[in-house]
This record gives sequence, structure tokens and C-alpha cells, in this order.
Amino acid sequence: TVQVPEPSSVVRTTCPYCGVGCGVLATPDGQGGAGIAGDPEHPANFGRLCSKGSALGETLSLENRLLHPMLDGTRVSWEQALGAVAGGLRRTAERHGPESIAFYLSGQLLTEDYYVANKLAKGFLGTPHVDTNSRLCMSSAVAAHRRAFGSDTVPGCYEDLDEADVIVLVGSNTAWCHPILFRRMVDARTKRGTKLVVIDPRRTQTGEEADLFLGLRPGTDTALFSGLLVHLADRGALDQRFIAEHTAGFDTALDRARAIAPSIAATALATGLPEAEIGGFFDLFARTPRVVTAFSQGANQSAQGTDKGNAIINCHLATGRIGQPGMGPFSLTGQPNAMGGREVGGLANMLAAHMHFAPEEVDRVRRFWGAPRIITGEGMKAVALFEAIERGKIKALWVMGTNPLVSMPRADAIRASLRRLDLYVVSEVMADSDTARAAGRRTVLLPALAWGEKNGTVTNSERRISRQRSFLKAPGEARPDWAILSDVARRLGHGRGFSYLSVAAVFREHAALSAFENNGTRDFDIGALSDISDGAYTTNLPVQWPLPKRGSAGTRGRTRLFADGRFFTFDQRARFVAVQPPALAQDTSAAYPLVLNTGRVRDHWHTMTRTGKSQRLSAHRAVPFCEIHPDDAGPLGLVDGGLCEVASEHGGAELEVMVTEGVRPGSLFMPMHWSDATASRARVGAVVRGVPDPVSGQPELKATPARVRPVAYR
Ligand code: SF4
Repeated sequence: TVQVPEPSSVVRTTCPYCGVGCGVLATPDGQGGAGIAGDPEHPANFGRLCSKGSALGETLSLENRLLHPMLDGTRVSWEQALGAVAGGLRRTAERHGPESIAFYLSGQLLTEDYYVANKLAKGFLGTPHVDTNSRLCMSSAVAAHRRAFGSDTVPGCYEDLDEADVIVLVGSNTAWCHPILFRRMVDARTKRGTKLVVIDPRRTQTGEEADLFLGLRPGTDTALFSGLLVHLADRGALDQRFIAEHTAGFDTALDRARAIAPSIAATALATGLPEAEIGGFFDLFARTPRVVTAFSQGANQSAQGTDKGNAIINCHLATGRIGQPGMGPFSLTGQPNAMGGREVGGLANMLAAHMHFAPEEVDRVRRFWGAPRIITGEGMKAVALFEAIERGKIKALWVMGTNPLVSMPRADAIRASLRRLDLYVVSEVMADSDTARAAGRRTVLLPALAWGEKNGTVTNSERRISRQRSFLKAPGEARPDWAILSDVARRLGHGRGFSYLSVAAVFREHAALSAFENNGTRDFDIGALSDISDGAYTTNLPVQWPLPKRGSAGTRGRTRLFADGRFFTFDQRARFVAVQPPALAQDTSAAYPLVLNTGRVRDHWHTMTRTGKSQRLSAHRAVPFCEIHPDDAGPLGLVDGGLCEVASEHGGAELEVMVTEGVRPGSLFMPMHWSDATASRARVGAVVRGVPDPVSGQPELKATPARVRPVAYR
């Protein structure tokens, strides 16, 4: 059920965009709109909002909303729609086995929605093929954490950004993509003289504001951080006691680093950076105890993304700079609930509650859920999952809260493959998203609640669980995702496992699973909330995990982990990782001589199904564009403001030319936001190949070989 507050009563909620997770005060006007302000009491933002957050009130219209269930293009009742989904899943499992069913979830979903989807698929349908658009976002950081710490744990918190003396930003346009965190960094510079180092092949707004900008060659981050590890060792800047007492694998990792970047000169050769700049960065890092290295999509969205994360973490472990105020490696999550999805296990390589597939973990989850068909191993990650549809291996696909026909690599091939499905279910807010419009035969569209209408929790980049609360009426026949999933489960005969009376009941079960037989060897534990009352669920969040054990005094979570130097590996030691030498997954060629990078603009979110409704936000960058260096634009006959076609061997897009020295010669950049619903031929997914990282499965979205040519405006 959706509680609708009286007009003018202020509702505390959380911004639905980036992983900063800012608190928002929404004041509904009683006519479907709301006034929006930052929540001064929320510890992520203390009242501030960025351009996207402050424009939330402009994005609440019901234009193009999916308001009723649709079956094969025809409006139907919920009864018919749910029957079609349950019947289709049952038939698919009977004919082709449960592993022919796949779910593709989203970091936009609330934790409770994610939990129920994961439980239904992995415990009751018996399919391991549950992956998420977070695979495209931060799965390399997850894999790097697990390799280094034995757990997917972000060690630090936002206060560390306030207390650092040096903040190194790797592959992160924080000023545009995590704007409120960037404001905290700028404040730290004002208050304590914090230095900002920005490492990025592209000179973004963040790079413009850096004290030191390192515009390295694409894909060479592991060389830079290998060089740094060598420099720390040669300069005597290691924390030998920490290495000896709390880590393993240092010598092997250092040997590998020496093979990759034995000196500053070799690092310069590999990265294309001047030796003086590298030396300046290395010395600054070596002599400053309070260093935070924050990394984001520029590191993660890479065929070597996991190694990039570990190359960064290696330098922090080598100096013992982890788990203490103002220091540590810090993965910035992209989406509002990328972290919550990880907590419930909504990735193909996780089971549930930060558990994986050790036999005792499978047995523990099976018993907790009472699951008849618990899976015992990993499923296919996003790229492989969609390729399996092309090969006819996946026969039923349920997409929830995401737009893969815009964002997935090789999106056109995916679109073509959907006709091979026996069942295509899309839980959506918008009727005109590319993914919803791809509907054909055997398609069920399910109207889901949007931000402002739905209730539940999200977890931000610093492990802080906050509430999204409803302040608007549910429009049309839209329903909460967890309730839709539960109804389907009941129709499949699993009533006992899915008889939730409220979203709080789902949360309590999720919290209880995190603590079930958890003797402290698992990082994720919010068991203290497993008996939270409906009232406290409404009022007592946000909190940061891990929480104190249930029954112990106090409910304050820990702001930092690893302060005692004990990690979640079997011997409680962190692991150094010997990383691979840098190499792009695909080389440029005579036909495709340029390297295409992709990313965000300041004022749009993902495929702009929400931000596109705000004229103010759309005005910042009104049309899709391609950045190119003047040295490349001139010989190719490209002029600023003209039209060009960017093409790879997988597809093409038409964009406005933006000539800028912000990109390196030999590089292109195009934003990820435009879709067929908002522009003609401007989808990133149609152009990029997305070779996956062999460890994390995260696809390379930053370095696709491409060509560009001018085209005439039609
Ligand atoms: Fe929303 Fe992120 Fe902006 Fe905060 S920084 S208001 S969470 S988009």
C-alpha cells in the first residue's frame, strides 16, 4: 500500500539519482507535484542538493507513464498480466529448464524489490541468471574488494573526504557525477588545504578544478599505480609493520609492479604523462598520510577494471592507509542503490546477503528461505546473459527498472535477439522507454511505482541505508515491484515464502538473513534491524552498516571498517594482488583509428527518462554530442557544431561535433544518456562492444575503436 501524506506535510526521502544518496525534503502540493529541498539532517548532504536533485520537483509529471498492465500491446487487468507472467515462467521452466529464465535488475530498484526478485529467482525458480545494470557500474570495484579484503566492503565514509589532506580521484568526474561529494572535497580544500589530484584521460570539470591533473593515456591506470607502489617501496614510504602483520602477497605484487613500471621514466613511457607530473604525484602520495583515493566508472568500466581497483588498493595497503580517519581507497557507486543490490546478492556471482556459493553458504540461505530450488553456483553476468538470448539459451527475460536497449553494449544485437524469447517481461515506469517499446509478441509490461510513489530503502556509497518514502498517490494501476514479484511467486505456488504484508516486512527478513548464523566472519550484518517496527522503519533510518550485533547496546553503525587491521579473509589478512600490465581489450586499426570514451553530462541521469522532463536540466546539454580534439577534427573536416557520424564495427550514432582540447588527440567522447525515445541514432549502446573484465564481468565502455566522419544535417 502507498501512504499518501496530506498536502504540505514534509516527507523525508532520498534522491533517486547518484550513489551519494542525498536526503531530500519533499512537500507535496496535493496536485501531483511537490516542493523539493535538501534535508539538513541527512549526513550525506546536510541540506545541499545538486542541479539534478534540486530539479526533482520538475520531473514528477505523468507524461508517458506506463499506467496499466499491457499484454502483447493490449491493456489487460493485473490478474491477466500476472497470470501471463506466472504461466510463462512455469511453461519456460518445464520446457527448457529453470536456467532458461533470466532477470535483469537495476541499481534504481529499492533494496526490498531487489531482495524479493533475487529470492524468487535463486531460491524458488532455481535460476542463477540474475544480473543487474550495476554490472556496468561498479562490479569491478566489488571484485577488487573481494580479492583484497575477502568481502565486498567499502572501508571508509564521507567524513574521510572531509578529513583527508590529499584526495586522488581516478576515472571520476566527481564535480558532475557526485556533485555533493565534490562540494565536500572543495570545502576540505578551503578548510584544511586538501590537495585534489585528478587522474583521467579526459580533462573534465573535475580535472579543471584539480591541483594536479594527470591526463594519462586511456587504460594505463595500472601502470601508474604500479609505478607508485614501486616508488613507495624505493623511497622507504612503506608501512612495514602493517604489511607484515595484516597483509599477504606484498612481494609478489611488488615484483609484478616492478615488471610493469620499474621507474618514473618507465611509468611516463607507459602512461604518456610527463615525468615531472608523475614525480610530483608520487612524492605527494608518499609524504601524506591522510590520502583518500576515490575511484569510479573510469576505472571500473574497463576490461581491466578489477586490476585497476586492486592496483589502487595495493598502494593503500602498502602504506597502512586504510580504516583510519582521512585515508583509504574509496569506490564511488554510480546509482542510488548499487550498494543495496550488492547487499541482497542481486548480482550473478553472489547468492544473498554478501554470501556466495560455498556449500555452507548455499545451505544456510536454503534453510533460511525454505527454498525448494536453491541454486548452487554463479549465473551469467550481464554481457554473457544477453549473448545467451542471442544464442537461444535464455527463453524468458524479466527486466526491472532499467533500459538495456540503450545502455548495454551491442544494444542493436540485443534488440534483434528479443524476438527469440518465449516470454519478455518489463517492469517499468515509462511507457516509451526503448526497452518497453521493444515489446513484441509474448510481452508483458508491468507498471511500477516511481520515485515519490514508492517506499523502501537504498544504500549509498558509504554503506548508509536511507529511506525512499512516498509522497504522491500511486498513479493509474502502478504497483510496488516487491508486491508484483510476490504475487507472481504466489501464483507459482510459493505463497509461504512471499506472504509479505508490507515493505517493512521484506526489510525485516532481509536484515534477519544478514545476521543468520553470522558469527562475525561476514561483513554485512544489519541483524539489529530484523525486528524493527513499522514505525521505526519509517523514522529510524538512515543508519550505516555494519550495525552492532542484535541485543548489544546502541544502534550506531560503524563509520569505518578495518581500523583494527583485520579483514574478512580466512586468516584476517588483506591481500595484495599482482595486477596485469595495462592493455586495451581492442586495438585501434586503420578502419577504426580512434578510441571512443563514454560517460555522463552534469544534468542528466542514465537514459534521461526522468531528467529529460526538466527543461532546465535539458538546457545544459540540449543535444547529443561527440567531443574530439582539434588535431583530429581539422584533418577529418569536422567543425564545432556540425554533425558527425561515430561508428564502430558494431554500429553507429549521429551526434553534434564538439571540438575541445579536453579530450586527448586520438580520442572521442560521447555521453550515455540519449535514446531512441529522445533522439535519433544517438545511443551509446549501439556503438560500444563492451569486452568484459575477466574477473568482474564488467564491460569496457571507455575504449571502443571507432571512426568519425562529417555528415550533413538533414
Ligand atoms: Fe542527488 Fe547525487 Fe545530486 Fe545528491 S549529488 S542531489 S544524490 S544527484
